[in-house]
Amino acid sequence: MKNYNKVLIATAVLALTVACSKEKETGKMSTSNEPVKLKFHYHSNNRFTDRDKEGKLLPVFQIGADKSNVILESISNPVAQSSPQEFQLQAAEGFPADIYGGAVLTPEMQKYGLQGAFLPLNDLIEKHGPNIKKYLDSNPEVKKALTAPDGKIYTLNYVPEGTVARVYYIRQDWLDKLGLQMPKTTEELEAVLIAFRDKDPNGNGLKDEIPVFNDKRNEMIRLVNLWGARAYGNDSYAVRVVKDNDGNYSHAWLSEDFKNGIKNLARWYKMGLIDQEFLTRKENTARQTLWAKENTGGMTHEWVASTGNYNSHKELKKTVPDFKIVGMLPPDTIKGKGFEEHRRIEVKPDGWAISHSSKNPEAAIRFMDYYFSPEGNRTINFGVEGVTYDMIDGKPVFKPEVIAQNSVNVYLQTNFGAQLPMGYVQDYEYERQWTSDIANEAVDTYKANKVYDGVKMTPVISFSTEEKAAYDRITQPLNMFLDEMVNKMLVGQMDIDKEWDAYVAEAKKLGADEIVAVYADAEKRLANIK
Ligand code: CA
Repeated sequence: MKNYNKVLIATAVLALTVACSKEKETGKMSTSNEPVKLKFHYHSNNRFTDRDKEGKLLPVFQIGADKSNVILESISNPVAQSSPQEFQLQAAEGFPADIYGGAVLTPEMQKYGLQGAFLPLNDLIEKHGPNIKKYLDSNPEVKKALTAPDGKIYTLNYVPEGTVARVYYIRQDWLDKLGLQMPKTTEELEAVLIAFRDKDPNGNGLKDEIPVFNDKRNEMIRLVNLWGARAYGNDSYAVRVVKDNDGNYSHAWLSEDFKNGIKNLARWYKMGLIDQEFLTRKENTARQTLWAKENTGGMTHEWVASTGNYNSHKELKKTVPDFKIVGMLPPDTIKGKGFEEHRRIEVKPDGWAISHSSKNPEAAIRFMDYYFSPEGNRTINFGVEGVTYDMIDGKPVFKPEVIAQNSVNVYLQTNFGAQLPMGYVQDYEYERQWTSDIANEAVDTYKANKVYDGVKMTPVISFSTEEKAAYDRITQPLNMFLDEMVNKMLVGQMDIDKEWDAYVAEAKKLGADEIVAVYADAEKRLANIK
């Protein structure tokens, strides 16, 4: 966004803030039992809104509205392609809805909150949000993460449960067929991948196997972990500032370890061990294409539950009856014990907030509070009782037709609104019920082998106005530059040894050191919040 746009937005927000505070003095809200009308704008991951295909409010939101005596009117744009863009359009209009929500939007909400465009929630929670209050009081770490530099809370975020997120999966049926052992080091893994490439484990007489693939190009870069390097600070691909064991921050993509990791990945690419189409393949299609359709994929690093479910994939069971993937522990590297960098972060940058333009913030917080009640928590995690789940012995249990879906979370999100990222606490039981035995085994093995020990995460921090401005100015151009260069290195269009110093120098010119300082400063400040 150009600077003049920001000025325009700031002016619009300011004008509305003034108009609004005047209205609040005169228009005291009704205290009768009449339902209160609230406007709602939800947009997430560029594809989900608060409405179904027919434009009807999704059941999970409807239930929350009914329970909190609210008439919820969606003003989301069901055909919008980009959640951040849609949010900026709302900003330009001065945030006319009462409640805003979505994925990866809370840093923006906090930024606008500090400018007065979203309401501080502390007093509202204290007076009208008993369930939220109870949760935050008993989870001070979450409360701290949500608190902005001015000591106020502007957003309620999504809090995931459990630790294990993405894991390595490898074809056990191929290992068996070729008489190979599960690799325990990166060196052994390389030997296995060469065998996958050369020995026709899919048995079609063609050398068509793709030993390593990923659903996302960014996930391919993470494979530098196999040579002991870090790639991402937490589970956002934009965060490349990492924290070491002494608590010091640095830029992962400029380290010597990263350079070595990329050199090895480039070597693997040249050897044909890595998907030759990884730069051009459509995101989120590789598992479906290279397993279910073509049976050519060997190993990947992806979400533990959804990936494990390929073992019971309906098409695959028919076409490749022996198909079997199992979790593989992170192999030991040249630097030491194997580790897993990716895990669920404590608080996600997903959630919701109340606009300064809301005339009924008490009703808005009451609606949001519902999802922190035991019943509301069940609704947002499991959907609609009698439709998606039944209560059995006092516990929600998914109906078999829900468990049978190829993608349970997308099914729940699209049709019911359950599991959409917003302000609530995830119940891991939701995922455990549709997680296969093999995936649960991977979860247990990862935990038992302490693969997360010594891998610190860069926390989600509420930045100050200055920090956020620096973050916004630097992140996108810097990451674009890094992506472009690293892509060239990986596919052999750049001499890594020769060009590395120039690459680092240019990254520093684009603000790499400054972005590291933003995190270090923000965390120092965070330590002082009580
Ligand atoms: Ca083959």
